[in-house]
Amino acid sequence: MAKIPINIATGSLQKDEIIVGIDLGTTNSLIAVIHPDSKKPVALKEHNGISLVPSVIHFDESGNVLVGEDAKPYLQTDAANTIFSAKRLMGKTYKDVKEAGELAYKIIDDDDNKLVKVQVGNTFYSPVDLSSLILKELKKQAEHILKTPVNKAVITVPAYFNDAQRQATRDAGKLAGLDVLRIINEPTAASLAYGFGTTGNSKQGSDNGQTIAVYDLGGGTFDISILNIANGIFEVLSTHGNTLLGGDDFDTAIVNYWMTENKFEGDEIKHRQALRLIAEEAKKHLSANEIFEKEYKGYKLNLSHAAFNELIKPIADKTIVACKHALKDAGLNKQDIDEVVMVGGSTRVPLIKQMVRDFFGKQLNDSVHPDEVVALGAAIQADILAGNTTGLLLLDITPLSLGLETMGGLMDVLLPRNSKIPTKASRQYTTYKDGQSAMKIAVYQGERDMVKDNRRLAEFNLTGIPGMPAGLPKVEISFLINADGILVVNAKELRSGIEQSVEVKPQYGLTDEEVEKMLLDSMQHAKEDMDIRALTEAKTEAEQLLSTTEKFIQKNFSSISKDELTATSHAMQALQLALDMDDKNLVQAKTQELNEISKPYAERIMDEAIQKSMQGSKIGPA
Ligand code: ADP
Ligand code: MG
Repeated sequence: MAKIPINIATGSLQKDEIIVGIDLGTTNSLIAVIHPDSKKPVALKEHNGISLVPSVIHFDESGNVLVGEDAKPYLQTDAANTIFSAKRLMGKTYKDVKEAGELAYKIIDDDDNKLVKVQVGNTFYSPVDLSSLILKELKKQAEHILKTPVNKAVITVPAYFNDAQRQATRDAGKLAGLDVLRIINEPTAASLAYGFGTTGNSKQGSDNGQTIAVYDLGGGTFDISILNIANGIFEVLSTHGNTLLGGDDFDTAIVNYWMTENKFEGDEIKHRQALRLIAEEAKKHLSANEIFEKEYKGYKLNLSHAAFNELIKPIADKTIVACKHALKDAGLNKQDIDEVVMVGGSTRVPLIKQMVRDFFGKQLNDSVHPDEVVALGAAIQADILAGNTTGLLLLDITPLSLGLETMGGLMDVLLPRNSKIPTKASRQYTTYKDGQSAMKIAVYQGERDMVKDNRRLAEFNLTGIPGMPAGLPKVEISFLINADGILVVNAKELRSGIEQSVEVKPQYGLTDEEVEKMLLDSMQHAKEDMDIRALTEAKTEAEQLLSTTEKFIQKNFSSISKDELTATSHAMQALQLALDMDDKNLVQAKTQELNEISKPYAERIMDEAIQKSMQGSKIGPA
């Protein structure tokens, strides 16, 4: 593969077009850019002087959407229609989020292994939809401040995000009308903001580069990442943390303290809600002062620095334990860490700084605004991609995404565009029909959601899959691009070991202009593409449910009551109708209804079957 000039690599269609850096956070999000005059990264601020956009979305009855500061008050007054922490749901299944605890809004729970959706009124939103609303708001604000269209971005994600979560973030960007040039790790961005890894600030004469610990304590999440930076390449050596620990827990601890210190009259829940806001105020105040005092409905609230430290010590201790784990996983000692970088609003708390400093035995890098540092680093990465920074490595990358056709003609991306080569990715698939003995593997290149709109590179059949019920065979498909840019696609059924592969040259016959056109098309069709994808996925799920329900009823006819049968048959008809109407929300609603109707008897019949099999294996008294 030829070296790809950077403008094609970034899909840049226009010279001098601005590329923004975005920190899409759990609690707060923001945008940064490189200032054209100072050449330094700056966070964009609205008139109020605040760069942070709360990651909160409110939906009102007539379908209006509010995002950010304006949506925040509704967390208290209209919790069911107000979404926060959508980032926690990105790329997750119901099973994943069940352990994540209570959320005030409604999460649709039909099948444990399906991706989560959130129901607000009669509409279903995927976490991608929700994140895209936040990104749209950021884009709008940035365009307002910069007075120029904003179409390209680098977006950050936690180092522990998996492929599905990264892809979901990319999709959210695309849906918001942003060409996501690269997804980078938050700790990598923070390191860039401190100048680590760029030419100016790397350790001289050391082949092993620099080892950096990035401590990130936000509103509701904590993570510690250990990075190695050598020759401009950032490698995550280990990452640890707790996705349910953050500054919000400090607020809760303060509320609990005040509740025990005072005898409040009346509704406890109401008091707690009001006190939460004052608790956050107190916490912030104590980051710079010794004592906090405030009147609340005739009660005197106070909190000293010492008392606050005592309250949060157990939480801070947990983060230090995670630091120990991260070091151990990286196979390093504290002494091996060259730099400690502090990220996230909650690292302003003096006790946190002191404990991290004591643990690593080092001065901290905390001079860059902890709320902004990730976005600033993303802006620096954006500038590098725009080709404005010299002296950095130009790597061979894939100019377009590579993927496979899945049910309903959808494109499933295995290697996102801009992947460095050589590279490798694999994913497991299964059969759709009982006894299916062959699987068509069709390889495509492009950014559109339906394969028909992309470029077909190769197709082959994996044959000889032994007869098994649908969903049982495990077919692992791997994409490998070697250093010469040749793509090798391999398919292997893991239970039987049968295997087949094909080789293609993805680059072959594509001019730079064609690559650019394909990128542009994908941006222009993002919304309709995503709608079709959502509809196709909902329909595939519904069709599968209809067929398994039908089979289940045939097999267990005698164990299902007449009422249950009637209700099921009605729900199946309604679902079929929804399918015929091609209405995504209706299909999802009716799928859920059918699930709810069939779940009780399906569980009952399964229980009976288990009971029976247990009886059969009982051993009698000797
Ligand atoms: P996230 O990365 O999860 O989106 P942030 O990095 O924006 O979160 O951190 C938000 C948290 O930082 C909130 O809990 C907020 O109360 C806390 N915070 C902001 N400013 C201060 C301060 N001055 N002192 C202590 N905590 C603060
Ligand atoms: Mg953050």
